[in-house]
Amino acid sequence: MRTPITADDDALRAYLADAEVPALLMTVAHLTGDLSALRADQRAAGWLFQPQGGLTERQQERARDLAFAALVRLRDGEIDVPPPPDPETLRAITSWAIGSDTADLLPLLAEEIVPAGADPKAPRWTKADLAPTTDFGVVIVGAGFSGLLAGHRLAQAGVPFVIYEKNPDVGGTWFENTYPGCRVDVASHLYNYSFAPKLDWPDHFCVQEVVLDYLRSFAEESGLTDAIRFGAEVTGMAWDDTESVWRVSTRTTDGAMETVVCQAVVTAVGQLNRPRLPEISGRDSFTGPAFHSAAWDHSVDLAGKRVAVVGTGASAFQLIPEIADVASELTVFQRNPPWLRPTPHYRDPVPDGARWLFEHVPYYARWHRFWLFAPGLRGILEGWIVDPDYPPTERAVSALNDRLRSALLASMEAQLADAPDLREQVIPRYPVGAKRVLRDDGRWLATLKRDDVELVTAPIERITETGIVAGDREFPADVVIYATGFEASKFLAPMTVTGRGGVDLHGMWNGVPHAYLGVTIPGFPNLFCLYGPNTNLVGQGGSIVYFSECAVTYVLDALRLLLATGKRAIEVRKDVHDDYSAWVDQGNRTRAWGFSTVTGWYSEGGHSAPNWPYSTDEYWRRTHRVDPTDYLIT
Ligand code: NAP
Repeated sequence: MRTPITADDDALRAYLADAEVPALLMTVAHLTGDLSALRADQRAAGWLFQPQGGLTERQQERARDLAFAALVRLRDGEIDVPPPPDPETLRAITSWAIGSDTADLLPLLAEEIVPAGADPKAPRWTKADLAPTTDFGVVIVGAGFSGLLAGHRLAQAGVPFVIYEKNPDVGGTWFENTYPGCRVDVASHLYNYSFAPKLDWPDHFCVQEVVLDYLRSFAEESGLTDAIRFGAEVTGMAWDDTESVWRVSTRTTDGAMETVVCQAVVTAVGQLNRPRLPEISGRDSFTGPAFHSAAWDHSVDLAGKRVAVVGTGASAFQLIPEIADVASELTVFQRNPPWLRPTPHYRDPVPDGARWLFEHVPYYARWHRFWLFAPGLRGILEGWIVDPDYPPTERAVSALNDRLRSALLASMEAQLADAPDLREQVIPRYPVGAKRVLRDDGRWLATLKRDDVELVTAPIERITETGIVAGDREFPADVVIYATGFEASKFLAPMTVTGRGGVDLHGMWNGVPHAYLGVTIPGFPNLFCLYGPNTNLVGQGGSIVYFSECAVTYVLDALRLLLATGKRAIEVRKDVHDDYSAWVDQGNRTRAWGFSTVTGWYSEGGHSAPNWPYSTDEYWRRTHRVDPTDYLIT
């Protein structure tokens, strides 16, 4: 909760030294109503990538002086905390900040710049108003970020629900991934619910335990915990055409099976939940401990051991520097290296001054969030779009993509000045954006340069009882760690899902999953997916938490429609779904990940099941309300 400003002038100046200056200037303009703070020569021209938006020291000083004057006036009662900006002010501030007209974004932005405690996305209806006597209950599958959110919104709408969670705790991926060094690589201040912002994140990119604590507290404080059946996995669900209900089968950890009946199901099982072990010959013959990064075996002490890690994706990238410090030798098996995005503050704590500003300056946290979020609205996406006239190659898919490549390459080259031999191995040979770009503070390449770390790029041939064979060498290992990712394209697996007429969902998808807006599937009434097909963001800004909020808004609106009409089933029209899927597929084909032949979970077998190829606001616009003409309501 925000507390009044009592700090003296010296303290204020000290706090402001830690400000994110572009966000500060936006806050000043809003608090004072004086838009002259938004001078053209104070604009953060390097807003997409550079620290402080590329503002010079001089520009930053000027901005801090303005902010100091505004905070003194606020503290001394000369100005009051204003209401949220009117549309004209919102447009002026945000257009100035990102250098292009934001008129089309105003409804979305109006949900963002709100007073502390506001929740503009909360449902504005309740079941008691719409359908007090209708028997209606929802099963939510999963108590991670999306499932808890769905539960919270249903509770707000007074719709009965129960959450089934296979684990003994909330958190989903943030409960399961406990590998050393696990932390979020989306800015923490964006990686929380918009209506429940945490103002005191200790780090810019928080570690797993802190994210998990946030979710635990949210579940407790929202009163959700009692609605969760822990240790109960949903194994399948079948739509009953006659009764218009779902029959959901569950299995508890002690093996007890149960079938529950409900009117609607919301799946919130994540895209990156089921670990994928590599199909390498001899994998099971290894006699030492071997485990996946997402199922870390904490009973294995790596101190003094020879450790082999397979994979150099986001998980390996975080855990390898940590275990290099304890293992006696570390061998890293890499197929494709990651592109690295310079993020010097990646492991830094949030400085005290910045925390003070978040907690005390009205709207500063909201403008700061907008600042983190803005690249998803304008800018980043363009870097991934394939320009057929460029012409695209595995080096770059457009002139802009090539410029991005040069920027990332320069940062890597600078780090490799003292290790030229490593260059060939660590510079990617695919376009930036074709795989997830990882946040780099220098630790990755510093680790690979260590004498006790060996990077192996020869393909793995087989695994033996005592190590891994690659190229013409056997690399002995005491422990093997598979940081080999997840079954990202197998949506809703391993559950069996049977829709109208007994149609099996996985059979229907046949390895190519689609859902309208990632949420609804023809032939599967009253079934709603969160973080479903084609809802994964590729560095477009925003966060998957935001996407879940959009999808949950949409689900609640669909339920509103159903309850308000007194009907029993809502089902997306097949033609609407198919047109949409074709549009999404076309978008993905014309993005770096759709063009490149590099392996990875963004695109498998020539089709991207996980990724959203458009902007964040495009998703917001499409999910803001349900268009009843898209649906059959029966
Ligand atoms: P991943 O990105 O899919 O990486 C898997 C790695 O294993 C890749 O390097 C892959 O090589 C390699 N690999 C797979 N099969 C192999 C085989 N048979 N032989 C040799 N190498 C093999 O998985 P991840 O690192 O767990 O990350 C998955 C996603 O989870 C991330 O992209 C991110 O979205 C999320 N994540 C987020 C965070 C965070 O926010 N902090 C942290 C971890 C993960 P190729 O590249 O050649 O396919």
